[in-house]
Amino acid sequence: MRGCGINSQRLIRDLRDLSSFGAVGKGVTRLSYSPADVEARLWLLRKMSDAGLQAWIDEVGNVYGRSLANRAILLGSHTDTVPQGGWLDGSLGVIYALEIARCMRESGAPVGVDVVSFVEEEGTYLSWFGSRHFCGDIGAEQINAARSEIGRPLVDALKEFAGALQKAGVACAPAHLDRNRHVAYLEAHIEQGPRLEVENKKIGAVTGIVGIRNRQICFQGASAHAGTTPMSLRRDACGTMIRFACSLLDEFERSASPNTVWNIGYIRLEPGRRNVVPGKSEFSLQYRDPSSETLAYLDKVVTESIAAANRSDGVVCSSTTGFSVEPLHLDPRLSRRISEAADALDVPWIAMPSGAGHDAAALARHLPAGLLFVPSIGGHSHTTEENTSDDDIVLGAEVMLEAVSNICIQGSI
Ligand SMILES: [Zn+2]
Repeated sequence: MRGCGINSQRLIRDLRDLSSFGAVGKGVTRLSYSPADVEARLWLLRKMSDAGLQAWIDEVGNVYGRSLANRAILLGSHTDTVPQGGWLDGSLGVIYALEIARCMRESGAPVGVDVVSFVEEEGTYLSWFGSRHFCGDIGAEQINAARSEIGRPLVDALKEFAGALQKAGVACAPAHLDRNRHVAYLEAHIEQGPRLEVENKKIGAVTGIVGIRNRQICFQGASAHAGTTPMSLRRDACGTMIRFACSLLDEFERSASPNTVWNIGYIRLEPGRRNVVPGKSEFSLQYRDPSSETLAYLDKVVTESIAAANRSDGVVCSSTTGFSVEPLHLDPRLSRRISEAADALDVPWIAMPSGAGHDAAALARHLPAGLLFVPSIGGHSHTTEENTSDDDIVLGAEVMLEAVSNICIQGSI
């Protein structure tokens, strides 16, 4: 009942062909609904049909290929990119899905392989639009309100997209998650970080996607002449901010888990002149961790540090909370399938969280979902430098095929 193995030449060729749509140097600019994106979707539609899938594009641009079986595991990712992005972010998972569908096509297994390329994961207009729409989680108000950074409405892009499909003679039809059909969602993605490479592992069996906290920490002192105001009389919002930030970073070092990452990405001083003591200052603090408990503990650390800062030097410290995302646990049965497949093929793997969001997070709210990582050379991603060796690309596909074929043949995850 087993399907055939990964055809490595075909796999690499399809990835290279896909990267030619919107190519810039070694990378790709393929923003959702741009001409390059539309061309790539039409190319993928043909590839899916050639693979024996019943393929169509839905009204928002998701490309969906349905296998002949009554139940299927859904494999995929996205094919839109950021500006000057890499050739593998998203594309890798879509072409793996296509190749695995080809391998499993004649297996006769009770569970087939459906393939999807979600539109608009990168959020040119609305992050994870395609996958959330596929899951029925996006309302008309969100679509009507969404705009690009330069103010272009998403609805205008959708209209233009519909026109381009019509011109190409392609009719669209809805594509939605079907819980009676889809047994699970499994996505392969480049790691987009350096951990696999540093630890000399080839596969990441992803356990969950980190939660994110954003705080803006503000200091209110008093602007004054930097030459005439004695040090003892100053309420220097910059000095207090720097001391506060240093001690907070030390505290994070002590309190965080090995998986926690944090970042001060933005600092502002007011008025920001060399001869004026700053009266106001602020900085952004972001932290991410796969555990809700750790995030809650770090929330407390920040709140207590602010209270302590307000007991000292006359500069008032406060904070506002920005968007936050709770950590998400992927289905442990799927990460076990990935690690077992890696063991079976003698490929070194680690269990790890994902520090970035993926379409799998949208799917995980409705279906058992899993995520598999392959190494990123130098950890580069969202740049044209992004790359993975051909050997690692092929190895990742072989591990994923092993995991998927076990699920398809055994008929359950
Ligand atoms: Zn991606």
